[in-house]
Amino acid sequence: MGLMIGMDIGGTNIVCGLVDESGKLLNKIKQSTEAHLGSGYVFDKISSMVDELLRAANVKHSEVTAIGVGTPGFIDPEKGITVFASNLKWTQVPTAEEIRKRTGIPTFIDNDVRMYVYGEAACGAAKGYEHVLGITIGTGLAAAMVNREQLYYGSGYMAGELGHIPFPEIPYECGCGLQGCLETVVSATGIARQAREQLAAGRDSIMRDWMEAKSINSITAADVSKAYDANDPLAIEIMNHTGTLLGKGLAAAVTLYSPEIIVIGGGAALAGERLFAPMREQLKKSVYSGYWDRLTISQAQMIDDAGIVGSAMAAGQRLLKTQTIE
Ligand SMILES: [Zn+2]
Repeated sequence: MGLMIGMDIGGTNIVCGLVDESGKLLNKIKQSTEAHLGSGYVFDKISSMVDELLRAANVKHSEVTAIGVGTPGFIDPEKGITVFASNLKWTQVPTAEEIRKRTGIPTFIDNDVRMYVYGEAACGAAKGYEHVLGITIGTGLAAAMVNREQLYYGSGYMAGELGHIPFPEIPYECGCGLQGCLETVVSATGIARQAREQLAAGRDSIMRDWMEAKSINSITAADVSKAYDANDPLAIEIMNHTGTLLGKGLAAAVTLYSPEIIVIGGGAALAGERLFAPMREQLKKSVYSGYWDRLTISQAQMIDDAGIVGSAMAAGQRLLKTQTIE
């Protein structure tokens, strides 16, 4: 497969890295996306980032076999189109073609969570496992499945939206139009939301002392973790509630897919055992023991780089497939 470029286009930053065929990240650069300036501007920026990346590594464009791109939202990987990405405000954007035109390198795109999980399965915490379920808990909650090195897409490439399963005990409306979606609680946003709501309702908490310099709305999921470590009853309650709901959501996924390993990544996964302990307890109770006994649960290993490495490796694989077909 030679050298590949992996890229993650997020609402805030674009990160791109040069990856060798073993999945080793050789170097990477990062710039702010500035999506409000339009997709053409973003693609021009990507093109100059590729130039800069290759110049720094003393590598020619012709030595790169493929570019792999992960973007948020609904993607058509076959057509190379970003169908809809709310945080980039892109609808029906021909992302793969725009990048290929500017760089001269074959480009493949896919959903960012899928690429993150693919990276963890190929080179990270799930390396060596055949049946991988990966989830990312960040501003939202999403999942992807890799079965014997193959991603599972589902009809319309829409498989994996674990965060949009509604639960009767969740009172919040979700951006997707449903009521009670799991990610309105199980996400960094959801954890912060619960804390803010309880503080606004007058609940006692150490987080209230931290608000002297901050308003209620500046309380974050990281603050809840910090308060948890100080034995704050409200923070413990929030983590237990969030972890328990995550366990219920995962129970459905585990029963449906029977993974050997669940890899958990994304910003809110940094809460670690504060969230994983109640999740494990609930998950164990909610699935047949045959599933539980064969299951490993692990935090993501590559954290920031999983998406870049995954995009690059997946692009390399897809290029091989195209060449085989031709
Ligand atoms: Zn939803």
